[in-house]
Formats: sequence, C-alpha cells, structure tokens
Amino acid sequence: MKMADCIFCKIAQKEIPSTLVYEDDMVVAFRDLEPQAPQHVLVIPKKHVESLLALKEEDKALVSHILVDVIPELAQKLGIAEKGFRVVANTGEEGGQTVKHLHFHLLGGRSMQWPPG
Ligand code: 5GP
Ligand code: ZN
Repeated sequence: MKMADCIFCKIAQKEIPSTLVYEDDMVVAFRDLEPQAPQHVLVIPKKHVESLLALKEEDKALVSHILVDVIPELAQKLGIAEKGFRVVANTGEEGGQTVKHLHFHLLGGRSMQWPPG
C-alpha cells in the first residue's frame, strides 16, 4: 500500500534514492538527509501509515517488530548500543512531524540533552 505523493513511500519503493542501512519485507531504514547526530537513521514501515495515531490493531506486529527486532539490531550494527541512543516518533503538528509517514528516528553517537527543544 503506497501513497502517491509520500516521499517515504517513494524511498521505501526505491523510487527516490536514499542510503539504506536495513531492509526486510516490512521495514526499511535509511540515513536522515539532515543528520542531527553522528548516527541518525529513520526506521519506517514499508506500508503507508500516517503517524502513531493512525496505527490499527493489525499493525501491532509491525510496531513490535520495529521496536523489538529492528531498532536494537540496528543500534548494534551502528555501534551505538553500548553507550546509548534515542528513539523518537514525532507525531502531529506540535510534535514536530514534518513527513506524514510514520517514522522512528534512531539517534546516537553523541550525548543527548533532555528535555528536547
Ligand atoms: P520529522 O520532522 O517528520 O519527525 O522527520 C522527518 C525527517 O525526514 C527529517 O529529519 C528530515 O531531515 C528527513 N527527511 C525529509 N526528507 C527526506 C528525504 O528525502 N530523504 C531522507 N533521507 N530524509 C529526509
Ligand atoms: Zn507513505
């Protein structure tokens, strides 16, 4: 399922280029165009889902796959598991979401501040 004007659907379908760091049948992960940390990867479902708010009962396996399998494996692969990392899903306008296709930012390689701006 793909949305015509969605940039992340196009990345998932390889219609526009990105630096992929992970792919399986449900998920792709690629480097953010404007990295905010030495390691900054976006983990997205291949299926178009607008945000966390649009997830349905049937998406539970997809989300747990991303959080339980993909992100920890990627953190290991990127060398940020040991020192720590941050996972962020900006949601909606005040959440700072600019691309309306669910994505988890995986950030690491530097010390993070809290609270975020
Ligand atoms: P948001 O602000 O929605 O949480 O995050 C969207 C992220 O997507 C931003 O960090 C932005 O840099 C990244 N981004 C936007 N367009 C592209 C693109 O075409 N390619 C890649 N690799 N990243 C993008
Ligand atoms: Zn999409």
